[in-house]
Amino acid sequence: MIPVRFDYTAPENLEASVKLLSENQGAQILAGGHSLIEAMKRGQISPSLLIDLGKIKSLQGIEHEAKGFLQIGAMTTYDKVARASEIRENYSALAEAANSIGDPQIRNWGRIGDIFAYRDLACDLPAAALALEATFNSVGTRGNRTIVADEFVVLCFEMQWQLNEIITSIDFPDPTTGAGSTYECIKHPASSCAVCGIAASIEPSNNTVGKCRVAVTGATSYAIRLLEVENAMEGKTPTAENIALAAKLAKENAIGALKTNEGLTILSDLYASAEYRTHLIGVLTQRALFRAAERAKFSF
Ligand SMILES: Cc1cc2nc3c(=O)[nH]c(=O)nc-3n(C[C@H](O)[C@H](O)[C@H](O)COP(=O)(O)OP(=O)(O)OC[C@H]3O[C@@H](n4cnc5c(N)ncnc54)[C@H](O)[C@@H]3O)c2cc1C
Repeated sequence: MIPVRFDYTAPENLEASVKLLSENQGAQILAGGHSLIEAMKRGQISPSLLIDLGKIKSLQGIEHEAKGFLQIGAMTTYDKVARASEIRENYSALAEAANSIGDPQIRNWGRIGDIFAYRDLACDLPAAALALEATFNSVGTRGNRTIVADEFVVLCFEMQWQLNEIITSIDFPDPTTGAGSTYECIKHPASSCAVCGIAASIEPSNNTVGKCRVAVTGATSYAIRLLEVENAMEGKTPTAENIALAAKLAKENAIGALKTNEGLTILSDLYASAEYRTHLIGVLTQRALFRAAERAKFSF
């Protein structure tokens, strides 16, 4: 049941969409509608106007020009992201995170621009965005801006996941030669939402780990990087022992982050307690570091 009346429009360009968004206080962007329409049916939100981005061609598709990054249009479906051969080869963490979302129907209709739509659904992609150092491009009444993933997460949290601007695309920098990445997660068997997800990327340098990025989602109230784990890996050879030592820090790292990140909590519900989720952070970090190191090209 949709209990309130609302207007609908599908502009053919971004300028018109931004104008409509700024002129109508109760307006909301409509992408695939999987979260938005559901929330309207439940009476959780009642937008007065839905601005459908479906007709704007510039928001569709995956491009890799000689720009040093891969650009994914905000209205590209999760399925296209998960299946693109270039993403599977060079941005495995992103392909795996996209492929783990919901079921084929959700992936065929949900759009990547809605990366943080409704936080209670424990989004998978933010962890991959943090580990692969993505940047988000948006347009609003004040013009265009580019926001790095770490800042984007905090911004979305502050805005309660409802930005007053339109995400146009997400950029993923080209991986350095030999880099490897992965996304490991445990899913709720009914909803398929992430109970805990860890994305990791490793860049080799002189047969040691030159750069390591590790991020957690699902277990925490918003996705964060595990900086102590990253530091413990950098400059080391990715041996089983070094990976185990670094992964041991993951749990304490996440608990420590509660003090420094405003509003951050370890999630707890009927299915998985905070204690279990914290345990998973350590287990999945170790698995993810192993897999990312296996994929990275070291020559021992
Ligand atoms: C059954 C089910 C299972 C799911 N499982 C998972 C899962 O395993 N992992 C996971 O991560 N997610 C999961 N989800 C969430 C799913 O990813 C979201 O429903 C999906 O992201 C919504 O995308 P959409 O394109 O349908 O967005 P919409 O529902 O159209 O929009 C959602 C919100 O995002 C805003 N928005 C959308 N696009 C933009 C844009 N370009 N710029 C600014 N704001 C925008 C809208 O205004 C709205 O507030 C699941 C959802 C369902 C229904």
